[in-house]
Amino acid sequence: MTKRDIFIGGAWPYANYYLHVGHLAALLPGDILAKYFRGKGDNVIYVSGSDCHGTPITERARKENVTPESIATFYHNEFKKTFERLGFEYDEYSTTMSENHKNYVMDQFKKILDNGYIYEKEELQDYCENCKIYLSDREIEGICPHCGGKSTGDQCEICGDSLDSSEVLDKHCKICGSKTIMKTNKHLYFKLPEFKQELQQLIETNKSTWRKNALGEAQKYIDMGLVDRAATRQLDWGVPVPVLGYEDKRVYVWIEAVLGYLSVGYDVATKRGIDFDQFMADTNPNLKTYYVHGKDNIPFHTTIYPALILALKNGYRLPDYIVSSAYVNLNQEKMSKSKGNLITANELLDMFDSDTLRFYFAFKGPETNDMNCSIEDIIQTHNKFLVGMLGNFVNRNLSFINKKFDGVISEAIIDENIQELTQKCFQLTGEYFEKGEIRNAVNQIIEYINCANKYYDGKQPWVQVKEDINEFNNTTYTCIYMIANIANMIAPILPNASLKIKNMLSLPKYKWEEEKISGDYKIKDLQIIYGRLDEESL
Ligand SMILES: [Zn+2]
Ligand SMILES: [Zn+2]
Repeated sequence: MTKRDIFIGGAWPYANYYLHVGHLAALLPGDILAKYFRGKGDNVIYVSGSDCHGTPITERARKENVTPESIATFYHNEFKKTFERLGFEYDEYSTTMSENHKNYVMDQFKKILDNGYIYEKEELQDYCENCKIYLSDREIEGICPHCGGKSTGDQCEICGDSLDSSEVLDKHCKICGSKTIMKTNKHLYFKLPEFKQELQQLIETNKSTWRKNALGEAQKYIDMGLVDRAATRQLDWGVPVPVLGYEDKRVYVWIEAVLGYLSVGYDVATKRGIDFDQFMADTNPNLKTYYVHGKDNIPFHTTIYPALILALKNGYRLPDYIVSSAYVNLNQEKMSKSKGNLITANELLDMFDSDTLRFYFAFKGPETNDMNCSIEDIIQTHNKFLVGMLGNFVNRNLSFINKKFDGVISEAIIDENIQELTQKCFQLTGEYFEKGEIRNAVNQIIEYINCANKYYDGKQPWVQVKEDINEFNNTTYTCIYMIANIANMIAPILPNASLKIKNMLSLPKYKWEEEKISGDYKIKDLQIIYGRLDEESL
């Protein structure tokens, strides 16, 4: 079979706080897909990075009297550590601060400008004569026209209404307190509405491959009416605008961050000696592209990013699969930093093995609806499935052989029905993975392990061992065959357990295919795959 080209873009977390449960649930499918396709032997390019620019970071830097770079670098390094602890294997995890990304974005920006999709417009903007700078909405403070409360340039702090800076009363510069004036400023704009038809067409084409919430949110975004979007921002932190006279501005993050998929993808391909233009070409019949992110990122991936690719006129493939998650609630409550009930991925990793978390969020992930997460539920899920089903099947088989036969399993006959069942499980589970339906894939694997336990109970090898040793050997060999295959099936989701099983039985490296065992086996260093958890032991 020809190797396929698989591009997987994991969303770029914003580098001003730790990764939380929501990130974990939304981004995990990307790593699972990457591991699955690598196991199939396909050419996988799986990229992501930290989104480091934009005003939330510059504002925080000003408040804390540090540089934006130091904040972004700190969280970028934290993200890398957390992803490593979670067992994520990106081909490259980069940052929008990298020279590579900046140069790539500047080149692409020029191309879009040359293609006529970016134009200059003059407009009046709030200006501080004392600081001699144009002010962004968040750098303005004033009075809310609706309730008379204190507001910024875009939102009232009292009634919470979102505001347009032109309606805010009595505006002052947040930095020095001076009254603001209106002054003409020039900005570059991107002609998003030019792509309306193609974006609508994209939704129709992908009705069966984008998740439902992606189709819905994309349609909503188009129906709201596409408008020209500012492509530059009055800031000194970000990717420089490659146009004369724009030295005091930066490329707006909404353009720059999504182009990270291509800047990093290009880098990975080049290092491997692959022509990225050919790899990503819409005409590449072997290519499939996946974009993995949370619900609030949907418009960026279903409309803005495709529009930028169309504006580049480089013939790149538009997103084939949008794997967009809904939200994670904690103990039935919405999580937020301001409520103080946000659980970080690190906090969970301090309590649980990464396999436990990967299984939980793969099995119960917010694929179609919001999911409710609780510590209790993670413990119960771990005990029921990882200990009660998977661990139980593997360990009762291996312990018995260790005790009675000194860990030696002699070659015997593998049950044909079980072999058929195994091949079918690889096929069905693989089909689910390829559609981005992780929960269905997990359920398929659970069903297989369930069958394995039933097979063991039905054969009663503890009786066979006394009555018919040949039958016993056949049962045991069939069970070892299933254990070897389970090690392959679970590898994309439970890489640690997969490795443990493979080490105990000296099995070959994980591949997404039937493991055809042969010859004798000897168990080395029998270990319990997962221990039971209870709330006190955490
Ligand atoms: Zn108000
Ligand atoms: Zn000022």
